[in-house]
Amino acid sequence: MISIPVTLQSDENGYFDRECPNENCLYQFKIKLKDWEDKVSDEEVHCPMCGHVDTSDKWWTQDQLEQIQKIASNYAMNYIQAELDKSFRRLERSTRSNKFFKITYKPGKRVSFINNPIGQMPEWEQEITCEKCGTTYSVIGSAYFCPCCGYNSASSSFSESLDTIQKMLDSVDQMKTLFSEKYDYDKAETMCRSMIEGSLGDCVSAFQKFAERRYIEITGKNARVNDFQIIEKGSNLFRSAVGYGYEKWLSEYELGMLKLYFQRRHLFEHNNGMVDEQYLSKTGETNYSVGQRLIIRKNEVEEVLKILKKLGDGILSISPIQEA
Ligand SMILES: [Zn+2]
Ligand SMILES: [Zn+2]
Repeated sequence: MISIPVTLQSDENGYFDRECPNENCLYQFKIKLKDWEDKVSDEEVHCPMCGHVDTSDKWWTQDQLEQIQKIASNYAMNYIQAELDKSFRRLERSTRSNKFFKITYKPGKRVSFINNPIGQMPEWEQEITCEKCGTTYSVIGSAYFCPCCGYNSASSSFSESLDTIQKMLDSVDQMKTLFSEKYDYDKAETMCRSMIEGSLGDCVSAFQKFAERRYIEITGKNARVNDFQIIEKGSNLFRSAVGYGYEKWLSEYELGMLKLYFQRRHLFEHNNGMVDEQYLSKTGETNYSVGQRLIIRKNEVEEVLKILKKLGDGILSISPIQEA
Protein backbone atom coordinates (compact mmCIF):
# COMPACT_ATOMS: atom_id res chain seq x y z
CA MET A 1 0.00 0.00 0.00
CA ILE A 2 1.25 3.44 -0.90
CA SER A 3 0.26 6.25 1.40
CA ILE A 4 0.08 9.63 -0.22
CA PRO A 5 1.06 12.70 1.74
CA VAL A 6 -1.66 15.24 0.95
CA THR A 7 -1.37 18.50 2.77
CA LEU A 8 -4.69 20.26 3.29
CA GLN A 9 -4.55 23.93 2.58
CA SER A 10 -7.25 26.43 3.40
CA ASP A 11 -8.36 29.33 1.21
CA GLU A 12 -7.14 32.82 2.01
CA ASN A 13 -9.90 33.21 4.60
CA GLY A 14 -8.81 30.08 6.43
CA TYR A 15 -11.75 27.98 5.22
CA PHE A 16 -11.91 24.42 4.00
CA ASP A 17 -14.75 23.16 1.75
CA ARG A 18 -16.94 20.27 2.88
CA GLU A 19 -19.95 18.47 1.44
CA CYS A 20 -22.68 16.46 3.19
CA PRO A 21 -22.43 12.75 2.29
CA ASN A 22 -26.20 12.27 2.62
CA GLU A 23 -27.25 11.72 -1.00
CA ASN A 24 -30.52 13.57 -0.55
CA CYS A 25 -28.68 16.60 0.71
CA LEU A 26 -25.11 17.08 -0.65
CA TYR A 27 -25.11 20.50 1.03
CA GLN A 28 -21.82 22.35 0.70
CA PHE A 29 -20.34 24.49 3.42
CA LYS A 30 -17.02 25.85 4.61
CA ILE A 31 -15.39 25.38 7.97
CA LYS A 32 -12.28 27.02 9.37
CA LEU A 33 -9.51 24.53 8.64
CA LYS A 34 -8.09 25.07 12.09
CA ASP A 35 -11.44 24.18 13.69
CA TRP A 36 -11.76 21.16 11.40
CA GLU A 37 -8.36 19.92 12.56
CA ASP A 38 -8.54 20.90 16.23
CA LYS A 39 -12.20 20.75 17.25
CA VAL A 40 -14.16 18.42 15.00
CA SER A 41 -14.05 14.79 16.12
CA ASP A 42 -13.31 11.89 13.77
CA GLU A 43 -16.49 10.12 14.81
CA GLU A 44 -19.10 12.84 14.39
CA VAL A 45 -19.49 15.61 11.89
CA HIS A 46 -22.93 17.24 11.54
CA CYS A 47 -24.36 18.58 8.30
CA PRO A 48 -25.37 22.23 8.89
CA MET A 49 -28.43 21.79 6.65
CA CYS A 50 -29.94 18.32 7.19
CA GLY A 51 -28.29 17.34 10.48
CA HIS A 52 -26.86 14.09 9.04
CA VAL A 53 -24.06 12.75 11.26
CA ASP A 54 -21.12 10.86 9.78
CA THR A 55 -17.45 10.13 10.37
CA SER A 56 -14.99 12.85 9.38
CA ASP A 57 -13.59 11.02 6.32
CA LYS A 58 -16.85 11.28 4.35
CA TRP A 59 -17.10 15.01 3.73
CA TRP A 60 -15.07 15.59 0.55
CA THR A 61 -16.62 17.82 -2.09
CA GLN A 62 -16.88 16.45 -5.64
CA ASP A 63 -14.28 18.98 -6.64
CA GLN A 64 -11.86 17.87 -3.96
CA LEU A 65 -12.37 14.20 -4.89
CA GLU A 66 -11.45 15.00 -8.50
CA GLN A 67 -8.32 16.80 -7.41
CA ILE A 68 -7.36 14.07 -4.99
CA GLN A 69 -7.76 11.51 -7.76
CA LYS A 70 -5.42 13.54 -9.96
CA ILE A 71 -2.93 13.87 -7.14
CA ALA A 72 -3.13 10.15 -6.46
CA SER A 73 -2.60 9.10 -10.05
CA ASN A 74 0.34 11.48 -10.46
CA TYR A 75 1.78 10.19 -7.25
CA ALA A 76 1.36 6.56 -8.33
CA MET A 77 3.00 7.25 -11.73
CA ASN A 78 5.84 8.95 -9.98
CA TYR A 79 6.21 6.07 -7.57
CA ILE A 80 6.16 3.43 -10.33
CA GLN A 81 8.68 5.36 -12.37
CA ALA A 82 11.01 5.57 -9.37
CA GLU A 83 10.69 1.81 -8.84
CA LEU A 84 11.36 1.21 -12.53
CA ASP A 85 14.42 3.43 -12.33
CA LYS A 86 15.79 1.36 -9.50
CA SER A 87 15.30 -1.99 -11.22
CA PHE A 88 16.62 -0.76 -14.56
CA ARG A 89 19.69 0.62 -12.87
CA ARG A 90 20.22 -2.75 -11.19
CA LEU A 91 19.78 -4.47 -14.53
CA GLU A 92 22.15 -2.00 -16.15
CA ARG A 93 24.79 -2.68 -13.52
CA SER A 94 24.37 -6.43 -13.72
CA THR A 95 24.65 -6.46 -17.52
CA ARG A 96 27.58 -4.03 -17.71
CA SER A 97 30.16 -6.76 -18.01
CA ASN A 98 28.20 -8.87 -20.40
CA LYS A 99 29.68 -8.38 -23.83
CA PHE A 100 26.73 -9.71 -25.76
CA PHE A 101 24.05 -7.36 -24.62
CA LYS A 102 23.78 -4.24 -22.68
CA ILE A 103 20.81 -2.42 -21.30
CA THR A 104 21.09 1.21 -20.74
CA TYR A 105 18.31 3.12 -19.22
CA LYS A 106 17.85 6.76 -19.57
CA PRO A 107 15.47 8.09 -17.00
CA GLY A 108 12.50 9.63 -18.72
CA LYS A 109 10.83 12.83 -17.87
CA ARG A 110 9.25 12.45 -14.49
CA VAL A 111 5.61 13.05 -13.79
CA SER A 112 6.00 15.72 -11.25
CA PHE A 113 3.96 15.48 -8.13
CA ILE A 114 2.58 18.76 -7.10
CA ASN A 115 0.45 18.79 -4.03
CA ASN A 116 -2.08 21.35 -5.19
CA PRO A 117 -3.85 23.23 -2.50
CA ILE A 118 -7.45 22.01 -2.60
CA GLY A 119 -9.44 24.51 -4.65
CA GLN A 120 -11.84 26.87 -2.93
CA MET A 121 -15.00 28.48 -4.16
CA PRO A 122 -15.37 32.27 -4.22
CA GLU A 123 -16.32 34.19 -1.12
CA TRP A 124 -19.42 33.00 0.72
CA GLU A 125 -21.93 35.17 2.47
CA GLN A 126 -22.80 33.98 5.94
CA GLU A 127 -20.13 33.47 8.55
CA ILE A 128 -21.41 31.73 11.68
CA THR A 129 -19.57 31.08 14.93
CA CYS A 130 -21.21 28.41 17.09
CA GLU A 131 -22.41 29.86 20.41
CA LYS A 132 -21.65 26.58 22.10
CA CYS A 133 -18.31 25.28 20.80
CA GLY A 134 -16.87 28.29 18.96
CA THR A 135 -16.44 26.56 15.61
CA THR A 136 -16.59 29.00 12.72
CA TYR A 137 -18.24 27.97 9.48
CA SER A 138 -19.69 29.62 6.42
CA VAL A 139 -22.77 28.81 4.38
CA ILE A 140 -24.79 30.15 1.47
CA GLY A 141 -28.30 30.94 2.67
CA SER A 142 -29.27 29.45 6.01
CA ALA A 143 -28.00 26.65 8.21
CA TYR A 144 -29.45 24.87 11.21
CA PHE A 145 -26.67 22.85 12.85
CA CYS A 146 -23.07 23.45 13.90
CA PRO A 147 -20.89 20.98 11.93
CA CYS A 148 -18.79 20.33 15.02
CA CYS A 149 -21.25 19.89 17.90
CA GLY A 150 -24.60 19.82 16.08
CA TYR A 151 -25.92 22.74 18.12
CA ASN A 152 -28.95 24.41 16.59
CA SER A 153 -28.96 28.07 17.50
CA ALA A 154 -32.47 29.23 18.35
CA SER A 155 -31.63 32.90 17.95
CA SER A 156 -29.86 32.68 14.61
CA SER A 157 -32.57 30.46 13.10
CA PHE A 158 -35.18 32.94 14.32
CA SER A 159 -33.53 36.04 12.93
CA GLU A 160 -32.78 34.18 9.71
CA SER A 161 -36.47 33.23 9.37
CA LEU A 162 -37.66 36.79 10.04
CA ASP A 163 -35.18 38.08 7.48
CA THR A 164 -36.43 35.59 4.88
CA ILE A 165 -40.06 36.62 5.50
CA GLN A 166 -39.14 40.31 5.16
CA LYS A 167 -37.35 39.67 1.85
CA MET A 168 -40.30 37.67 0.60
CA LEU A 169 -42.65 40.54 1.44
CA ASP A 170 -40.27 42.98 -0.26
CA SER A 171 -40.56 41.02 -3.47
CA VAL A 172 -44.35 40.58 -3.51
CA ASP A 173 -44.84 43.42 -6.02
CA GLN A 174 -42.23 41.99 -8.36
CA MET A 175 -43.82 38.56 -8.02
CA LYS A 176 -47.19 40.05 -8.92
CA THR A 177 -45.76 41.46 -12.15
CA LEU A 178 -44.13 38.16 -12.93
CA PHE A 179 -47.24 36.12 -12.16
CA SER A 180 -49.50 38.36 -14.21
CA GLU A 181 -47.23 37.92 -17.22
CA LYS A 182 -47.32 34.17 -16.80
CA TYR A 183 -50.98 33.78 -15.83
CA ASP A 184 -53.46 36.62 -15.66
CA TYR A 185 -53.95 39.54 -13.33
CA ASP A 186 -56.61 37.83 -11.18
CA LYS A 187 -54.47 34.76 -10.66
CA ALA A 188 -51.47 36.93 -9.82
CA GLU A 189 -53.53 38.84 -7.27
CA THR A 190 -54.70 35.60 -5.62
CA MET A 191 -51.20 34.13 -5.57
CA CYS A 192 -49.73 37.22 -3.94
CA ARG A 193 -52.49 37.41 -1.37
CA SER A 194 -51.77 33.80 -0.52
CA MET A 195 -48.06 34.66 -0.16
CA ILE A 196 -48.86 37.43 2.31
CA GLU A 197 -51.27 35.25 4.30
CA GLY A 198 -48.68 32.49 4.33
CA SER A 199 -46.01 34.87 5.57
CA LEU A 200 -48.12 35.65 8.66
CA GLY A 201 -48.17 31.92 9.35
CA ASP A 202 -44.39 31.80 8.87
CA CYS A 203 -43.95 34.59 11.44
CA VAL A 204 -45.97 32.70 14.04
CA SER A 205 -44.20 29.35 13.38
CA ALA A 206 -40.76 30.96 13.58
CA PHE A 207 -41.63 32.67 16.85
CA GLN A 208 -43.20 29.56 18.41
CA LYS A 209 -40.15 27.46 17.66
CA PHE A 210 -37.81 30.15 18.98
CA ALA A 211 -39.80 30.77 22.18
CA GLU A 212 -40.05 27.04 22.90
CA ARG A 213 -36.28 26.59 22.51
CA ARG A 214 -35.48 29.62 24.64
CA TYR A 215 -37.96 28.59 27.34
CA ILE A 216 -36.24 25.21 27.64
CA GLU A 217 -32.78 26.83 27.63
CA ILE A 218 -33.81 29.32 30.32
CA THR A 219 -35.87 27.14 32.66
CA GLY A 220 -34.51 23.67 31.96
CA LYS A 221 -38.16 22.64 31.85
CA ASN A 222 -40.04 21.28 28.89
CA ALA A 223 -42.56 23.29 26.95
CA ARG A 224 -44.71 22.45 23.99
CA VAL A 225 -44.34 24.48 20.84
CA ASN A 226 -48.11 25.11 20.81
CA ASP A 227 -47.88 26.85 24.19
CA PHE A 228 -46.36 29.79 22.33
CA GLN A 229 -49.07 29.96 19.69
CA ILE A 230 -51.20 32.00 22.06
CA ILE A 231 -49.58 35.23 23.22
CA GLU A 232 -51.08 35.29 26.75
CA LYS A 233 -50.16 31.68 27.39
CA GLY A 234 -46.52 32.09 26.32
CA SER A 235 -46.18 35.33 28.24
CA ASN A 236 -47.58 33.65 31.37
CA LEU A 237 -45.12 30.78 31.06
CA PHE A 238 -42.18 33.19 31.06
CA ARG A 239 -43.76 35.24 33.87
CA SER A 240 -44.06 32.27 36.19
CA ALA A 241 -40.50 31.21 35.38
CA VAL A 242 -38.61 34.50 35.59
CA GLY A 243 -41.06 36.97 37.09
CA TYR A 244 -42.03 38.91 33.99
CA GLY A 245 -43.79 38.30 30.70
CA TYR A 246 -43.81 39.91 27.26
CA GLU A 247 -45.03 43.23 28.76
CA LYS A 248 -41.44 43.84 29.86
CA TRP A 249 -40.44 44.59 26.28
CA LEU A 250 -43.70 45.43 24.50
CA SER A 251 -46.18 48.27 24.85
CA GLU A 252 -49.83 47.53 25.38
CA TYR A 253 -50.49 48.43 21.77
CA GLU A 254 -47.81 46.05 20.52
CA LEU A 255 -49.08 43.23 22.72
CA GLY A 256 -52.59 43.83 21.45
CA MET A 257 -51.34 43.68 17.85
CA LEU A 258 -49.59 40.36 18.43
CA LYS A 259 -52.65 38.86 20.14
CA LEU A 260 -54.86 39.92 17.26
CA TYR A 261 -52.54 38.73 14.49
CA PHE A 262 -51.80 35.42 16.17
CA GLN A 263 -55.57 34.86 16.29
CA ARG A 264 -55.86 35.89 12.65
CA ARG A 265 -53.19 33.46 11.69
CA HIS A 266 -55.11 30.76 13.55
CA LEU A 267 -58.18 31.59 11.46
CA PHE A 268 -56.21 31.38 8.21
CA GLU A 269 -54.66 28.11 9.24
CA HIS A 270 -57.83 26.40 10.40
CA ASN A 271 -60.72 28.14 8.71
CA ASN A 272 -59.24 29.50 5.48
CA GLY A 273 -59.59 33.02 6.84
CA MET A 274 -63.38 32.78 7.24
CA VAL A 275 -64.51 34.71 10.31
CA ASP A 276 -66.44 32.65 12.88
CA GLU A 277 -68.06 33.26 16.29
CA GLN A 278 -65.05 31.99 18.17
CA TYR A 279 -62.72 34.41 16.41
CA LEU A 280 -65.01 37.37 17.10
CA SER A 281 -65.39 36.53 20.78
CA LYS A 282 -61.67 35.98 21.23
CA THR A 283 -60.58 39.18 19.52
CA GLY A 284 -63.55 41.44 20.16
CA GLU A 285 -63.24 42.63 16.56
CA THR A 286 -66.19 44.64 15.33
CA ASN A 287 -65.04 45.32 11.75
CA TYR A 288 -65.99 41.83 10.66
CA SER A 289 -69.06 39.67 10.98
CA VAL A 290 -69.40 35.90 10.85
CA GLY A 291 -68.88 34.49 7.35
CA GLN A 292 -66.66 37.30 6.09
CA ARG A 293 -63.10 36.65 5.03
CA LEU A 294 -60.17 38.38 6.73
CA ILE A 295 -58.01 40.74 4.73
CA ILE A 296 -54.28 40.88 5.52
CA ARG A 297 -52.00 43.47 4.00
CA LYS A 298 -48.29 43.46 3.50
CA ASN A 299 -47.66 46.38 5.87
CA GLU A 300 -49.58 44.58 8.63
CA VAL A 301 -47.33 41.53 8.41
CA GLU A 302 -44.34 43.89 8.39
CA GLU A 303 -45.54 45.41 11.64
CA VAL A 304 -45.94 41.95 13.19
CA LEU A 305 -42.37 41.18 12.09
CA LYS A 306 -41.08 44.32 13.79
CA ILE A 307 -42.84 43.54 17.06
CA LEU A 308 -41.69 39.91 17.01
CA LYS A 309 -38.12 41.05 16.46
CA LYS A 310 -38.38 43.28 19.53
CA LEU A 311 -39.95 40.50 21.59
CA GLY A 312 -37.32 38.04 20.37
CA ASP A 313 -34.49 40.35 21.48
CA GLY A 314 -36.16 40.60 24.90
CA ILE A 315 -36.56 36.84 25.32
CA LEU A 316 -32.96 36.42 24.19
CA SER A 317 -31.76 38.74 26.95
CA ILE A 318 -33.17 36.52 29.76
CA SER A 319 -30.37 34.60 31.44
CA PRO A 320 -30.86 30.94 32.26
CA ILE A 321 -32.15 30.23 35.77
CA GLN A 322 -29.39 29.01 38.09
CA GLU A 323 -30.36 26.06 40.25
CA ALA A 324 -30.21 27.03 43.92
ZN1 LIG B 1 -26.84 17.25 4.75
ZN1 LIG C 1 -20.78 23.98 17.82
